[in-house]
This record gives sequence, structure tokens and C-alpha cells, in this order.
Amino acid sequence: MSIVALGLLASLAAGLMTGVGALPVLMGRTISRKANDTMLGFAAGVMLSASFFSLILPGIDAAEGLYGSVLVAALIAGAGIALGALAIAAMNEYVPHEHFLAGREGVEAAALAKIWLFVFAITIHNFPEGMAVGVGFGGGNVANGISLATGIGLQNAPEGLAVAVALRGQGYRRLTAFLIALATGLVEPVGGVLGAAAVSVSVHVLPWGLAFAAGAMIYIISHEIIPETHRRGHQNRATTGLTAGLILMMVLDVTLG
Ligand SMILES: [Zn+2]
Repeated sequence: MSIVALGLLASLAAGLMTGVGALPVLMGRTISRKANDTMLGFAAGVMLSASFFSLILPGIDAAEGLYGSVLVAALIAGAGIALGALAIAAMNEYVPHEHFLAGREGVEAAALAKIWLFVFAITIHNFPEGMAVGVGFGGGNVANGISLATGIGLQNAPEGLAVAVALRGQGYRRLTAFLIALATGLVEPVGGVLGAAAVSVSVHVLPWGLAFAAGAMIYIISHEIIPETHRRGHQNRATTGLTAGLILMMVLDVTLG
């Protein structure tokens, strides 16, 4: 099977976990703010750990193998991380969307229905996650791609639940809340195919793609998820969740990837 097909299937599977996470809302259940913040902290921890163990470190290894210099490899990784973060910062600037935390940002946000602002926010979030899974298969590293897809899938469940619960809180019906949460996850295969295709172009693109995906995720962790999990005073729970997620993804990467 080609790398692009693998990237598509794995990121689709990871994306569908967003809908699995939102299932309790479809069945009329909801969760406490404390549990929500703990679980989103877990999501942030998995993303953080995946950025380093499954993206940045393999990127440095790949660049060192290509150019024979740890310094060149480190500089490529650093530049790739910066570009990934800048790309998401630019999307944040120009795409109107609704932050969980800060409210509306971007051009003509007021003109759009609130529901679509939510969709944009999650699209920005999920696109780099799908891309991370796709680039994870680059260079034929199937084990790394699978461990990334497993980790991203795991952290998509609490994210899907958080989206569905937030929509329910705004008065949307159960089925609508569930379907929107599911739809946000379906952005991941788009990112997955693009990521896998990009790193299939040339071995020289691989270290850049890995670092770029990591930078994009780190931006979202710092800009969106950690502030969201801390704003109601549940810092201890959020940090416990983050630490657990970080450890779990590290174990996944070391044993699977
Ligand atoms: Zn996430």
C-alpha cells in the first residue's frame, strides 16, 4: 500500500475518533467542567509528546541521515517548527473563528453564524493533527505513522466530546452537536493525505514536514488548549491530565513507533 493511502486511512481512523468521543452527547449524557478540563489536558499532553517523540526527533534523525550533520539537522528542525507555528498563526489571523476562550477573532466574524465559527476553530486544530499522522508515514516509517495515528485518535475522543458538549451548552440539538463534532474530525484525512503526499515528493521534504507538523500542533497547544483547560481554575486537574497524556504517548511511541 502506498504511503499516501496509508496516511489517508490512518488519519481517517484517527479523525473518526472525534465522533466516537461525541457519542455520549448523542445519547443525552454530558460531563462536568472538571472532567472536561482534565480530558482536554490529556489531549494537550498527547499532542505535546507526539510533537517531540514522533515528529521532531524522527525529523532530526532523517535530516542527520541526509546531510551528515547534527547542527544542520537541528537548524532544519528549528526552522520547520517555526514555519509550522507561523502558518497556524496566519490562519488564526485571517480565518474567522470562535475560540473556546477568547471569543471571536479574525475578519468579519460577526457576520457568520456562531456554529460555523466553531467549525472553523476545530478545523484549524484538526488539520495539523491529520497532517502529523500523514507525515508520520514519510520515508516508509509505518510503525511511526501507526503510533501517531493511535495517539492522535485517542486525544480526538475528548476533543470531540468537548465540542459536542459546548454545542449542547449553546442550545444545539443532540444529533446536530454530534454530527458537527464528527464533521470536524473528517478534516483530519484531508491533512493526512496532504502531509503524506508532501513527504512523498522527496526525502529532502521529510524533515521539514515532520518539524512543520510539530510546530503547528505546539502552537495550538499553547494558544488554544492549555488556556482553555486553565480558565475555570482547574489547573491541577488539567496538569494531571496533560502529564498522563504525555506519558501515554511517550510509551506508545517507544513501544509502537
Ligand atoms: Zn488535538
